[in-house]
Amino acid sequence: MGAPPQLAYIGLGSNLESPIEQVREAFNELAMLPLSRLVAASSLYASRPVGPQDQPDFINAVAALETRLSPLALLDQLQALEQLHRRRRQHHWGPRTLDLDLLLYANEHINSPRLRVPHPQMTARAFVLLPLTEIAPSLDLFQQPLSTWLEQVENQGLERLSNATI
Ligand code: ATP
Ligand code: CA
Ligand code: CA
Repeated sequence: MGAPPQLAYIGLGSNLESPIEQVREAFNELAMLPLSRLVAASSLYASRPVGPQDQPDFINAVAALETRLSPLALLDQLQALEQLHRRRRQHHWGPRTLDLDLLLYANEHINSPRLRVPHPQMTARAFVLLPLTEIAPSLDLFQQPLSTWLEQVENQGLERLSNATI
């Protein structure tokens, strides 16, 4: 019944004052999305902010979702979760961002105004490639193994938080 499930990878990011909690919460929310199942969650990774240092670390992670949602329906859900976090943050601390990027959706290549998949920047970002490698070590990206892409980016000061898995 309905569309077969597809494997999607989602990049999570937050630089809230409690970004670890925000990302953990986002994992829980991803696990509750309709027609979807959270099948893997990476460790959390911290990177020092670029520029002014009097702000929290950026926390990143990657999730694997098995989903029957279409790519655009999944993007709708991700953006709704971003809004949910923004609302909460606005109430307590002012404007803030939970960033949820759709990195990959099956083997699809999508180039629409709202959605580009694979995410155009993912091959240049250690904070995407490292957590993705953790949960999908044998994945190829544009016919190249993730390790090849990783070799081409600086580590960007990324630190794996060993005690910050979900
Ligand atoms: P970047 O995309 O470089 O990581 P960003 O995440 O800060 O930047 P946003 O402001 O969160 O950018 O998103 C801007 C727009 O990007 C969204 O409104 C969305 O429609 C579009 N978009 C295109 N492709 C994707 C994708 N693969 N995942 C999420 N949003 C996407
Ligand atoms: Ca992003
Ligand atoms: Ca985004």
